[in-house]
Amino acid sequence: MTKTSSRSFRPATQAVHAGTLRSQFNETSEALFLTQGYVYDSAEEAEARFLNLSPGYQYSRFSNPTVTMFEERIAALEGAEAARATATGMAAVTAAILSQVSAGDHVVAAKALFGSCLYIVEDLCPRFGITSTLVDGKDLNAWKAAVRPNTKAFFLESPTNPTLEVYDIAAIADIAHAGGARLVVDNVFATPVFQSPLKLGADVVVYSATKHIDGQGRCLAGVVLCSKEFLEKHLQVFIRQTGPSISPFNAWVMLKGLETLHLRVEKQSANAALIADALAHHPAVSRLVYPGRPDHPQAEIVAKQMTGGSSLIALEVKGGKRAAFAVENALEVIKISNNLGDAKSLITHPATTTHQRLKPEQRAELGISDGLLRLSVGLEDPADLIEDLRIALSGLSLADAAE
Ligand SMILES: *Cc1c(COP(=O)(O)O)cnc(C)c1O
Repeated sequence: MTKTSSRSFRPATQAVHAGTLRSQFNETSEALFLTQGYVYDSAEEAEARFLNLSPGYQYSRFSNPTVTMFEERIAALEGAEAARATATGMAAVTAAILSQVSAGDHVVAAKALFGSCLYIVEDLCPRFGITSTLVDGKDLNAWKAAVRPNTKAFFLESPTNPTLEVYDIAAIADIAHAGGARLVVDNVFATPVFQSPLKLGADVVVYSATKHIDGQGRCLAGVVLCSKEFLEKHLQVFIRQTGPSISPFNAWVMLKGLETLHLRVEKQSANAALIADALAHHPAVSRLVYPGRPDHPQAEIVAKQMTGGSSLIALEVKGGKRAAFAVENALEVIKISNNLGDAKSLITHPATTTHQRLKPEQRAELGISDGLLRLSVGLEDPADLIEDLRIALSGLSLADAAE
């Protein structure tokens, strides 16, 4: 809000107004500053900007007014002191972790991670002398036991992809802090609408804004939220010098996406809840996990830390890969895609796509069976989605169901 106010506004209001910078034309909708650089009135002014003695922009790898609007808006929404936007969600994860560790340090992460996040912790970090331990995120004793004197960071995602396990963020933050480490949370599945990890004790939150923040499948983007201290000590210089910077155009799409985030995520989650209830006891479904249902394995933790169930459902069909493929191929409204968080409902077979890189034993350990499907629920009429799924499931043969 351009006029300074002493009132504190609620998140859905912040999502529409916070961070707005108006040019001399006083435009209603935020301007897109598609510029690489900025000109200075004098050589002295340029010198002062580079010495940080004069406010203003220097180069869009460091900062850009449209990008600033997106960062300030999402920081206000989350109650974070600072935010930095990045080109992709993976750039945000990489910056959040690598900016704070050095050779000789140790990272602990939950095993159930998005594939590329697992690569950062399991493959990339060790190449540079940063060791890592993967634990069962549900097991608080495993987190405790993994802490070493050189542990600098804990990393988790909750709910997890694709099995929608939920971890106790406050309890894990306490364990991290007792061991002198920071907790980094990937909050993509919960979204800022349903979960505020910083308020639960996390130190750093990362998003793939590609997902619900865009919400219409257009641009890639990421964001890291943290304290001013973390920004100044670790993140700022890392992003400025290594250059995972977001394009102003993409930041503008995300900024406008935030304005409708609550509306979309609440509707998508309401649709997901209806689908989950309609299919939970379907004879062709052997397991259905939805964080909004009372039969979710960590329902108590969900009630404690989330205000909604999310737009994602994990469902396992009887009959393994053959049945899962048959369901995907029979769907008309719901599209086959590895993406999520879109206005269009999307379905994924994780074992052969997003989690194909894992060894079969790893998949088994994480509950990623051959019959598992991950459904990202969109904004269509829920009756059409339920009908689409019922028709597809009814096509499964008796032989599949008996397997
Ligand atoms: C998609 C995703 C990412 C990576 O984001 P990109 O924008 O695709 O780089 C990271 N974490 C989770 C949980 C995701 O779903």
